[in-house]
Amino acid sequence: MTDTIPTADFTVPQERKIVTVIPGPASDALHARRLAVVPVGVSSALPVYIARANGAILVDVDGNQFIDLGAGIGVTTIGHTQSGVVEAATEQLNAVTHTLFTITPYEEYVRVAELLAEHTPGTFAKKTMLANSGAEAVENAVKIARKYTRRVGVAVLEHAYHGRTNLTMAMNFKAAPYSTGFGPFAGDVYRAPNSYPYHDGLSGAEAAKRTIDYLEKTVGSYDLACLVVEPIQGEGGFVIPAEGYLPALQAWCTEKGIVFVADEIQSGMARTGAYFASSHFGLEPDLVLSAKGIAGGLPLAAVTGRAEIMDAALPGGLGGTFGGNPVAAAAAIAVFGEIEKHGLLAEATRVEQTLSTGLLELQKKYDIIGDVRGIGAMIAIELVQPGTGQTTKEPNSAAVTALAAHAAQNGVLVLTAGTYGNVLRFLPSLTISDALLEDALGVLDAGFASLTA
Ligand code: PMP
Repeated sequence: MTDTIPTADFTVPQERKIVTVIPGPASDALHARRLAVVPVGVSSALPVYIARANGAILVDVDGNQFIDLGAGIGVTTIGHTQSGVVEAATEQLNAVTHTLFTITPYEEYVRVAELLAEHTPGTFAKKTMLANSGAEAVENAVKIARKYTRRVGVAVLEHAYHGRTNLTMAMNFKAAPYSTGFGPFAGDVYRAPNSYPYHDGLSGAEAAKRTIDYLEKTVGSYDLACLVVEPIQGEGGFVIPAEGYLPALQAWCTEKGIVFVADEIQSGMARTGAYFASSHFGLEPDLVLSAKGIAGGLPLAAVTGRAEIMDAALPGGLGGTFGGNPVAAAAAIAVFGEIEKHGLLAEATRVEQTLSTGLLELQKKYDIIGDVRGIGAMIAIELVQPGTGQTTKEPNSAAVTALAAHAAQNGVLVLTAGTYGNVLRFLPSLTISDALLEDALGVLDAGFASLTA
């Protein structure tokens, strides 16, 4: 056991426990109330209502305990209700809850900007603006890049996901359900082929040439303000580009005066064993976007980047009522502190070893596991139709749905992903124990066995 998190830190026993049918009666009753007042467009992957959460465990209103392999889609990266975060946020709540940084500022905003300058890749002078959500960070990055370059074009990649606002809907690859019926959409967004080694078999250089050629021909580099990439695509199914792909794109952007933006909203904040996944690929993005895990569960997002680019907007051009709220900022400062204090970057590597070893074992047993991929605590399996794993790699979303349902019935929460819905992704907290991971892998094993029986 290499876990370094003191178990005394946990206030809920770190164990899986199922005491009712799933969902249980109390969840069902809440769900009936919800259906009357919450629109169907706001859906829930697993309608069990959570009463308490701690570490890697979710406790529902019926007393069932789930091993959480999703962490609120990569938000509670250092664990649910982590004591350092809760204490910092509580203290801040009592000190200053809100003033609005653009009216009367406070230190916590400045400190978060200092920490992001220190921990994002690159040693150049950096500045940060804070916002509320990932999509808002993407929107602001595009605003800033356009103002800086005086160009309008925005390039994105196939299988990308950037959010649910009007501009970010136009930047997503997948239409349904994200943008179906919600147009008209923002213009001047250009989507290029990406690098997806399991499917395209291209080297990084070949894939980069294809992306660059496509953009040069369809829009032309002189009209592009920015290229926005997720170093590891999140909703797209944890697609890890071939070696050299992203550096080649960055070099092209630098040469052509295009702002290179890394959307690290899902891959950032220690999730992959580095503060930002860009580091694994040798990137120093002009702008880095963070959200999700940055504040341990409180809403906060950031655009961090080269000072000269960040300073392009006029005073008052960036901001918003809640962006960089003091309580969320205090929580973010605590997250940085807790990552250092508990050596959580190394824990991401431990999670990777345990999870990927277990998943590779499962792949040997079940041929519908076409691909096992990921870095740190960001691991996925792509499921394919039987016998197609080495050939046509036909997507198997039915197996993903069945496995997620089997896992939930047995007290394990897993997330799905992928353009074709055929990816199971694992984003556990970095503080999850090997014992819990192995328990969850056992549940998955039984799920695969029953599927393929
Ligand atoms: N970019 C990426 C890479 C994401 O994963 C997400 C959220 N899944 C977003 C942007 C949007 O973030 P938010 O939901 O906070 O708006």
